[in-house]
Amino acid sequence: MDKKDWGFETRTIQAGYEPKNGEPRVLPIVQSTTYAYDTAQAVADLFDLKVEGHMYSRISNPTVDAFEKKMASLEGGVGALATSAGQTASAFAIMNIAGTGQHVVASTKLYGGTFNLFEHTLRKLGIDFTFVDQNASAEEIKAAFRPETRALFGEVLTNPGTEVLDLDKFSAIAKEMDVPLIVDNTFPTPYFCNPIQHGANIVIHSATKYIDGHATSVGGVIVDGGNFNWANGKYPELSEPDPSYHGLSYTETFGEAAYIVKARVQLTRDFGAYMAPQNAWLCNLGLETLHVRMDRHAENALKVAKWLEADDRVAWVKYPGLEGDEDYKNAKKYLRGCSGVLTFGVKGGRAASEAMMDALELATIQVHVADIRTCVLHPASMTHRQLNDEQQKACGVLPDLVRVSVGLEKAEDIIADFDQALKAATK
Ligand SMILES: *Cc1c(COP(=O)(O)O)cnc(C)c1O
Repeated sequence: MDKKDWGFETRTIQAGYEPKNGEPRVLPIVQSTTYAYDTAQAVADLFDLKVEGHMYSRISNPTVDAFEKKMASLEGGVGALATSAGQTASAFAIMNIAGTGQHVVASTKLYGGTFNLFEHTLRKLGIDFTFVDQNASAEEIKAAFRPETRALFGEVLTNPGTEVLDLDKFSAIAKEMDVPLIVDNTFPTPYFCNPIQHGANIVIHSATKYIDGHATSVGGVIVDGGNFNWANGKYPELSEPDPSYHGLSYTETFGEAAYIVKARVQLTRDFGAYMAPQNAWLCNLGLETLHVRMDRHAENALKVAKWLEADDRVAWVKYPGLEGDEDYKNAKKYLRGCSGVLTFGVKGGRAASEAMMDALELATIQVHVADIRTCVLHPASMTHRQLNDEQQKACGVLPDLVRVSVGLEKAEDIIADFDQALKAATK
């Protein structure tokens, strides 16, 4: 059987690292900034991008490379770049193809950190953003485009709102407007969704979440679908000579991998922010059990969501795996599972929700999501705190919203904890 045809579960374990005779069976941590060469010419060829190889761990490293290759395989892309954080992946994904005077259309339903990055930091660098309602009609979304628009951006399963992006609608809009669709696939992970199969061109992840899965490492990944025509005239930085590489053109030299090669050899060369070998090793270890963990996260979350839905003390529950959920149809269409993240509000509003959180014993209050331990967070006063009320509402953050990241503990124990906390908060 061709290794490319291996099933997803096999590739989570086997892809990316292939030891040769006598080499370690488990991916080694290459804790070295530097690599030895026999000749000056060998290094010059690396600098000229004439040959593949490692020269400096700001740009590539064998441990990180194995993790990148596995991620590219799992997402069905032509290449990947691992970054020091999910935030870097979002920033580089945009900066690789947009600059001063250019523009990006993005959904309003974004992770708070992504919204801040776009609205404030990238805007300061001269890249403008228009935020659109992802549930608006294609016509309304297209009206936000300008001649200088260079990308369309959305989250496949939104954090914290757990809304499901209509990937077919978004990819059709991107195609018609001749710009790439960039999606953040952090919550579904490649196990529950492969956005490239639905027409996305670039997929980014916060590897900090389910990919690592154990809350040990901050990291990010950009995966290139290799399915966008960068030589359409809008992206001269990819199709025209790059003066920082003696006039090399990425599309001519690297073909379908042009985007991801450019991100590595320009952006990580110039900014760093590359993933550390230790973190790549931990993220790779996490991937080895991704499929087993994700099924259980989704199973536990559905049990908790159903229990909350039936409880009188709960005002509302949002989980796209619930049949009555407004995103159930899109979840069925695009996701093989809905992850472990759900949101709910306690009757009595914000104060009651916060009191419930304070009374939890098994679940902890954490500024994290998507790992093996059940945790809760109040986005309005934490991750989305820097946003004003209107921006919070646009991101899907209600004052009473509690985000629950359902872990891999016994579902009945998690439910019992919410039961006693609700009792304490609503007595
Ligand atoms: C956490 C998160 C990010 C940012 O990732 P970091 O690894 O924390 O930098 C981006 N997108 C989503 C959906 C996230 O949950």
